[in-house]
Amino acid sequence: MRINDNFEKLPESYLFSTVAARLREFKEQNPGVEVIRMDIGDVTLPIPQAAVEAMHRAVEDMAASRTFHGYGPEQGYDFLRRAVAEGDYASRGVDIADNEIFISDGAKSDLGNLGDIFSVDSTVAVTDPGYPVYVDANVIDGRGGRLEDGRWSNFLYLECTAENGFKPVPPAAHADVIYLCSPANPTGTSFSRDELKAWVDYARRESALIIYDSAYCAYISDPAVPHSIYEIEGAKEVAIEVRSFSKTAGFTGLRCGYTVVPEVLKGSDGQGRKISLRKLWLRRQTTKFNGASYIIQRGAEALYTPEGLAQTKANVEYYLENAALIRMRMQDAGFLVFGGVDSPYVWVKSPNGENSWDLFARLLKEAHISCTPGSGFGSNGEGYIRLTGFNTRENTEKAMERLLAVSKNI
Ligand SMILES: *Cc1c(COP(=O)(O)O)cnc(C)c1O
Repeated sequence: MRINDNFEKLPESYLFSTVAARLREFKEQNPGVEVIRMDIGDVTLPIPQAAVEAMHRAVEDMAASRTFHGYGPEQGYDFLRRAVAEGDYASRGVDIADNEIFISDGAKSDLGNLGDIFSVDSTVAVTDPGYPVYVDANVIDGRGGRLEDGRWSNFLYLECTAENGFKPVPPAAHADVIYLCSPANPTGTSFSRDELKAWVDYARRESALIIYDSAYCAYISDPAVPHSIYEIEGAKEVAIEVRSFSKTAGFTGLRCGYTVVPEVLKGSDGQGRKISLRKLWLRRQTTKFNGASYIIQRGAEALYTPEGLAQTKANVEYYLENAALIRMRMQDAGFLVFGGVDSPYVWVKSPNGENSWDLFARLLKEAHISCTPGSGFGSNGEGYIRLTGFNTRENTEKAMERLLAVSKNI
């Protein structure tokens, strides 16, 4: 058999493994030195108690023939679709029907799988820097072209730099599919209503599809920042929204998310006929996916109870306070920073033109802090690092004290 050649085109992703290897090496050479991990990309607090209790009850359901659940609906149980429609959309004045919501085992799967419903010839626009899944999944599907100087010849790159505040703006060129993430990983920046409206207008003009990743919407506190792209008029005709319970409620190890495909969202087939994307996604999911676990979906449902909402909010606020602390201290130390307001991520510019890996090495050696080099998220990330609010408050404070103490040399 012949393999899918696109896998051979994909470069190895060295970012996280190289960070881990560098930390290991440092620890071997400096035994007894405590390194504070400011590069953590996973949540660290346990999941809300309301979800724990609901999952215990769901396990008991599985133990009795009367309440046992076998295969569930591929699109998710009605109880969770209803809770999402009510809790995440109706509550914000957005009308999303239950059957426009597709429950999944997480946002990464959906973001990677959505390529099944659009043409291999589509021009894909991605942000630089950005979440690597958008790029790699489309390369595997055959939409990348050739890799030249770290960039794929068939992609349209949306340049995110300090000049535009690391927020992509609609390009002059046409794109068929655009991946947007707000609040963004890795830069922590988010779109205002007007900025997002410019993207919806672009997509309507170009008959393009926006795939809107709002995995971090729970971190939004600024009322000027929309939680959902559907808060923008006309967005239902151009956007799919992908969400996750991972960063919201600590479900990274439990696995649950959802994708919204509005009924009015259409694409064109080869004859120019308008085809419902919701129908295609339903067909895709019922063919290749057998639904998220009943137990996990009961856990997710419980996040929408008053207790679940309060407990989730408390966890998110803890991370946000860490991020705010990082942002403030880094600013005080004279660094240029982005994000850290409606996001757990703080994006920091290297103060004297050092590249990302050199700054990584210096922070490790002089302050015993680890970070994620920004260059791993795209060429515009060069010269930046990402710090996260996912460590404990105590460690975050300690890390910032260390950083202030050495910042004169950095
Ligand atoms: C973590 C993350 C996801 C993946 O979420 P899962 O639901 O755990 O698969 C998606 N998008 C972004 C930007 C993320 O940072």
